Order: sequence, then C-alpha cells, then structure tokens
Amino acid sequence: MKNSCLFCRIIRNEIPASRVFENDSTLIIKDISPQAPYHYLAIPKEHYSGIHNVPSSKGDLFKNLFASISEFVREENLEEKSYRLVINYGEKAGQSVAHIHVHILGGREMKWPPG
Ligand code: 5GP
Ligand code: ZN
Repeated sequence: MKNSCLFCRIIRNEIPASRVFENDSTLIIKDISPQAPYHYLAIPKEHYSGIHNVPSSKGDLFKNLFASISEFVREENLEEKSYRLVINYGEKAGQSVAHIHVHILGGREMKWPPG
C-alpha cells in the first residue's frame, strides 16, 4: 500500500513541487515557505523518518544524498556563495515532515547559534 507521507507523495508526483534536481536516489525541491533567498530540500527517495532509522545496510542512502547535494550545489554555483545544511529531527527541533530531508539555505547573513 502506498504511504501518505507528504514527501513520498511529492516523490511519486502525486503532489506538485518545484523540482530542481533529481536522480535515482534523491529529489531536491524548492521549499514552499522559503526562510532565505534560496531554500531547497534534499530528500532521499526511500522513506525513513530520521537518520537513526536508516539501517547500516542502507548506508548508501547518506552517500547518495550528500553526493547529490554536492552535485546540485556545484551546478547552482552555491559553493561560491555561502550555504547552510540543516536536518531537524523531532518536534522541539522543528521537524514537521517525518521523512529525512536536508534543508539547503542561503543568500543572506546566517546567525549562529541557530534559534
Ligand atoms: P521540517 O520542518 O520538517 O524541517 O521541514 C519541512 C519543510 O517542508 C518546511 O520547511 C516546509 O516549508 C516544507 N514544506 C511543507 N509542505 C511542503 C510542500 O507541500 N511542498 C514543499 N515544496 N515544501 C513543503
Ligand atoms: Zn516519506
């Protein structure tokens, strides 16, 4: 049975999204509510709610995810600017979609520590 996870539905093209990069393992979309001049979400196509739920036998998920982010960042020349990668897990950290995703944010001054 197909799951009802928002990002799985976007991956399956059941919900529209601005798709900016895609390969066999990873989809990158524009965030619908951008928190910076550029704000993308890199989403592994396999559904896991958090990085600690990925079994060691599926370690390629991380390799492919970060290789895809690297490729996208180079394509968009973001490495010449600045960017921040963020993964929120759990309600208190601000996670609202329970499917691993890496925020790629930039184009403005970023504060540290994050709020
Ligand atoms: P989280 O809060 O889980 O770290 O990140 C989820 C992100 O998904 C949020 O930044 C939110 O704006 C984004 N988002 C929620 N629904 C949609 C949607 O339907 N389409 C897109 N492109 N982004 C979404
Ligand atoms: Zn999912």
